[in-house]
Amino acid sequence: MTFSEAQINRYARHILLPEVGGTGQSTLLKSKVLVIGAGGLGSPVLLYLAAAGVGTLGVVDDDVVDLSNLQRQIAHSTDAIGTPKVLSAQKTIKAINPDVTVVPHQERITPDNALDLISGYDVIADGSDNFATRFLVNDACYLAKKTLVSAAILRFDAQLYTFKAHLTDTEGKHGPCYRCIFPSPPPEGQIPSCAEAGVLGAMCGMAGSLQATEVLKELLGIGESLSGSLLVCDGLSTTFRKISVRPDPGCPVCGENPTITDLGIHKV
Ligand code: ZN
Repeated sequence: MTFSEAQINRYARHILLPEVGGTGQSTLLKSKVLVIGAGGLGSPVLLYLAAAGVGTLGVVDDDVVDLSNLQRQIAHSTDAIGTPKVLSAQKTIKAINPDVTVVPHQERITPDNALDLISGYDVIADGSDNFATRFLVNDACYLAKKTLVSAAILRFDAQLYTFKAHLTDTEGKHGPCYRCIFPSPPPEGQIPSCAEAGVLGAMCGMAGSLQATEVLKELLGIGESLSGSLLVCDGLSTTFRKISVRPDPGCPVCGENPTITDLGIHKV
């Protein structure tokens, strides 16, 4: 593709990188990423992907901006209070980079719409704040053969994963999915939410920036994929641990004898 003068200027620091260059920047401009949740994680993910020139950004969120969101949800401003988050995020993204097409999906992701929602995108970034959604997105991405970059955050802690268990290498081996690590959601109330236990706002920015980096790596096919690892970040001690995770042959989604072959398990 041919860049305009303004695009050459806008993406100059990317084009300088041998791993990106003009070809990689063209790839980004043609890429489509779906971000689930326009909250603490979704905000920095959306802003960095928009600034990077990812051509189409879908945003799924059914919530409106609340004053208590602004301590960490940096895609939204004080004058957006009461506005649907998808529209507030769209306005912010457009102000950063008019090259980006934003597709607002003002709804919750559900077992009924999940496959339709994710089918039009290359990579899915999950920044949702609850286990039910995280398991639904994992299962839907595996069934729809989509790469998923997922992050989770609480208090001063963050976790980051990339899942693409649908892809096999030349030996027929594949990486793990979320259910290989956590077979089923924890009992209700066992793990508190950010609304219950709090979160340091800047931790969302750190985790979301890492998540955006992994999305860009997957789109560009560069570096070492995080698939097969779990990154655990402790903000209070400033430590990062990368833990190796293997696929579970007994996994109900990506294992040898899968029992989850559609999203029916998520319907109550
Ligand atoms: Zn699995």
